[in-house]
Amino acid sequence: MRIVYLSLLLLFTACATTNTTTMTKATPDLSTPHERNPNTTATYYEAVDFYEKLADTYPQIRLVEYGKTDIGKPLHLVVFSADNDFDAASLRNKNKRIILINNGIHPGEPCGVDASMMLLRDYALDGELPENIVLAVIPVYNIGGAINRNAHTRANQDGPESYGFRGNARNLDLNRDFVKADSRNAQAFTQIYHEWQPDIFIDNHTSNGADYQYTMTMIATQHNKLESTLGKYLNDDLMPQLYADMKARNWEMTPYVYARTTPDEGIIAFLDLPRYSSGYTTLFNTIGFIPETHMLKPFADRVASTRAFMESVIDAVEKDGDKIAELRRRANENVRTQTTFDINWELDTERVEMLNFKGYEAKQKPSDVSGLDRLYYDHDAPFEQEIPFLNNYKSSLSIEKPYAYIIPQAWHEVIERMKWNGVEMTQLTADKIIEGEVYFIGDFDTRDAYEGHYLHSNVQVEKRVMPLPYFAGDYIVKADQITNRYIIETLEPQAPDSWFAWNFFDSILMQKEHFSPYIFEDEAAEMLRNNPALKAELEEKKNSDKKFAESAYAQLNFIYKKSKHYEPTHLRYPVMRVINANEL
Ligand SMILES: [Zn+2]
Repeated sequence: MRIVYLSLLLLFTACATTNTTTMTKATPDLSTPHERNPNTTATYYEAVDFYEKLADTYPQIRLVEYGKTDIGKPLHLVVFSADNDFDAASLRNKNKRIILINNGIHPGEPCGVDASMMLLRDYALDGELPENIVLAVIPVYNIGGAINRNAHTRANQDGPESYGFRGNARNLDLNRDFVKADSRNAQAFTQIYHEWQPDIFIDNHTSNGADYQYTMTMIATQHNKLESTLGKYLNDDLMPQLYADMKARNWEMTPYVYARTTPDEGIIAFLDLPRYSSGYTTLFNTIGFIPETHMLKPFADRVASTRAFMESVIDAVEKDGDKIAELRRRANENVRTQTTFDINWELDTERVEMLNFKGYEAKQKPSDVSGLDRLYYDHDAPFEQEIPFLNNYKSSLSIEKPYAYIIPQAWHEVIERMKWNGVEMTQLTADKIIEGEVYFIGDFDTRDAYEGHYLHSNVQVEKRVMPLPYFAGDYIVKADQITNRYIIETLEPQAPDSWFAWNFFDSILMQKEHFSPYIFEDEAAEMLRNNPALKAELEEKKNSDKKFAESAYAQLNFIYKKSKHYEPTHLRYPVMRVINANEL
């Protein structure tokens, strides 16, 4: 349990005009802007300045820079290591559990920025960080957004009085950018993540949406998506511990209130796909938490509950550290050796858990704006009742892993991202014809502009076995790695956050050569004369498709696509699945 009064004590000593203890003489003012005014969050500059002073004062704290973010400033990582060792590999060898904490990804939701500052300072002061734990804290992740400060873009949120903006320097929502990694912020994050290989990841947020009594709500890694034994530990063991502990700290929390209608009708576990922070860390068997404080609660309470949750996790990891290490070791080994991977998920509506929930009654009254009925939550009608909780997802698509994938070097944006993520690759040393499974892209949906892309979904494929030429320097990715989930969920085009879904392969969707109908007419007619089966196919399509029957061009195009002229690379996904090891 933490000593809660420490931050107040420090504030007092920092403000005192005379002080005789040697410690405070040497100690700079380490109070935080939030402590000086509870409706304030530190600016980016104040946060960095604070950690610089903290690192200067305490040898167990170091401030490290990783790359540059989109605004041109480096991404900082603050490492708290009680034995003054700041080498991630060395710390892992010493059986330390590493907890990575991310703050300010959405700078209008800055509770974690301030809570982390006080947390690290107080652990430095009281020396009570459990000895099996190393904390690695990103003070502010979306630096461009944090610097773009304002007082209004979080509509109806209760403080702080000013804060940063959600979009980063390229107007990206960084919490959709973890796989595609368009931002330099995400690229620097992959460096931090793979160097530190955290056991636990916490990404601090604030939620909007429904109204209810809780200050803290929680998205944990969707447990069915984690490797099975690790997911079972998270759902059956760790989460109940954290819910009980937060209640004991007087910050009772509830699962993130993600509801189809109002919470009294039930809530749904959030499916954290790999584009999101905790979905990304799930690919590498890190247990992730997204604390979402409720925006209608006062900022100081949100900061305090965020701090309480981080302390709660730290206490749980102190106790379960060895168990978590062993589960993660086994999970990595299982991911390396398993043959089937679930790549798409759907809500399991048949498995309904009941959840005790403290809400406010949802009611309707006439709107002063439209005159129509509007929703409101009646604070004079609080309730505590059991509500349905849909906490399980089931696989809707599984893939057998191949022996290896081959990625032609032309797709260098894909290859560099695989490298950033620790995927081991070798390169062909000579040009070679290789036989394997090749996908042809069929139907898919495309959504409107989304995070700098036009995301594809519901991708249909046809798989054919064929030989194709590959060239010296093309990349071979064997599917026998602890990064298998990352490999498969990015390279399989049907996965929701695959490279294909995020437009990295869109050039294959465009046909490069066409035909002139007035000349091709004669060749098409001859093809039909020589090929009765093709003629029958054409007639059948004319009979079943009125629009087709009325379009001369569509019918010529139908025949063109079956002619020798039609380019074989159109819609052909260039990454081969090699099944037979002898092919390589
Ligand atoms: Zn957020």
